[in-house]
Amino acid sequence: MLYGIAHSSFLDMSPYMPHFENYADEVTVVTDDIAHDPLLVTFALLWFPDDDFFERYPNVRVVASIAAGVDSIFACPSIHDDVLVCRNRDPEQSSIMSTFAIWNVINHQRNFPLYRQQQLEKCWNRLPMRAPSDVSVGVLGLGFLGEKIVNDLYTLGFDVAGWRKSNTPLNNPEIKVFSGDSALSDFLQRTEVLICVLPLTSDTQGILSKTLFDQLKTNAYLIHLGRGGHLIEQDLLDALDDNTLQGASLDVFEVEPLPQQHAFWEHPSILITPHDASDVRPEAAVLNLIEEVRRYSTGDTPKNKVEASIGY
Ligand code: NDP
Repeated sequence: MLYGIAHSSFLDMSPYMPHFENYADEVTVVTDDIAHDPLLVTFALLWFPDDDFFERYPNVRVVASIAAGVDSIFACPSIHDDVLVCRNRDPEQSSIMSTFAIWNVINHQRNFPLYRQQQLEKCWNRLPMRAPSDVSVGVLGLGFLGEKIVNDLYTLGFDVAGWRKSNTPLNNPEIKVFSGDSALSDFLQRTEVLICVLPLTSDTQGILSKTLFDQLKTNAYLIHLGRGGHLIEQDLLDALDDNTLQGASLDVFEVEPLPQQHAFWEHPSILITPHDASDVRPEAAVLNLIEEVRRYSTGDTPKNKVEASIGY
């Protein structure tokens, strides 16, 4: 029998627990409030762990985040080199994320915020119509989520391209890929709607800045689905106020929940969602972890290992 724990510094982990019962002949998994010899615990399902989590459970060797992002695990001060960190890969999650991104793109393309305003004024006025091919969309990050988004946008006829670190080609060679820092400017200059699905790392922290906004096409719109730490918040407010950006849809924030007094709440050009663009289904998160624990136990290569040195 292997022992595990489901832990978060603030999230209720109880929705995950029934799914571990499907594997009760292999594993015993509890939450913090149930007694468990900490030294027995060798794996964990995590989301924003307590700072001393890996000191309290020194024999934890395999962890999986309940979400795609693993930044909160690497940010844990007590994490050490012997911990294998795995990411979650749930195909449903990429579909949910992609449809959320597409809704935002169409919201901008078809002027729905303006139509809403016109409705409030009982104003019947047809706005200029643009086809998907008239709208250039750029996706920052072409991983598990980003590749799904560019593929779906391409299928709908949008003029889509993506930016990634490596020069790994996409399955669809028709979609233009820009690789690395040297190609970022060219990518931005052809982009009207910018979608961020990057992981938060030391390289990507603060990437959504004035320097970046200034290079986008006119009528630019930001759809930010990555992490709050990617965005320089004051630069966004300035870019909206001087019309460098026409609007922004923000799902992630430096501080979550977004504080009541934050300027974003009342900005007319900002759409706010509460870190809800996508989610991993509990049963998928649990299965993902169990499969990684099995592989670790038998010495097999992990399926979704995160490279600790680069943070994604
Ligand atoms: P992946 O690890 O699969 O993909 C990351 C992508 O980012 C890769 O294409 C990678 O390039 C690229 N990348 C990383 N660093 C750089 C860099 N310095 N320069 C250029 N490109 C870079 O991640 P996922 O697609 O699974 O998830 C992405 C992020 O989405 C998560 O980390 C999380 O922050 C966010 N997220 C948000 C959610 C929400 O509800 N708002 C839900 C889930 C995730 P390459 O392929 O060349 O290595």
